Order: sequence, then C-alpha cells, then structure tokens
Amino acid sequence: MATIKINSDKCKGCSLCVNACPKQCISFSKQFNKTGYHWAVLEKENDCIGCGFCYQVCPDVCIEVYR
Ligand code: SF4
Ligand code: SF4
Repeated sequence: MATIKINSDKCKGCSLCVNACPKQCISFSKQFNKTGYHWAVLEKENDCIGCGFCYQVCPDVCIEVYR
C-alpha cells in the first residue's frame, strides 16, 4: 500500500499538495506547527496511490512518498 510522510515542522500550509492530489487524500491539521501553520496531513490513508504529485509540487520538500 502506498503512503506519504509529511514533515509537519517544515510545512507552511500552502495547500499546493492538497490541490494536487487526485484522490483528495490530504487535508490540514487543526493544530499549528511551531512556525504557526496548519500543516498538511494524509487524512485518507487508504486512498493514497503513491502517484507522487504531492511530492512534486511541494516547494519546501516536506513530503516523502512510499510505495
Ligand atoms: S502520492 Fe498521490 S495519491 Fe498519495 S497523497 Fe500524494 S498526490 Fe495524493
Ligand atoms: S505543498 Fe508542502 S508546504 Fe505546501 S501544504 Fe503541502 S506539504 Fe505543506
């Protein structure tokens, strides 16, 4: 099963990965990280297909894809 790991401390909550995901797997945490952003989280863990689109668009290289 594919999955991603998001670096919650580096994420700036820009939402590019949220919009890029074809399966709408990613949403935002309700909490703030230490720099004051709602970080991205893989909400629908079972729907990730490992396509890597989220990884490709993240400007801060916060996402790792496993498949
Ligand atoms: S790898 Fe693809 S399916 Fe999985 S969270 Fe990223 S964009 Fe969505
Ligand atoms: S694209 Fe990167 S910085 Fe932007 S919300 Fe997603 S993980 Fe965070």
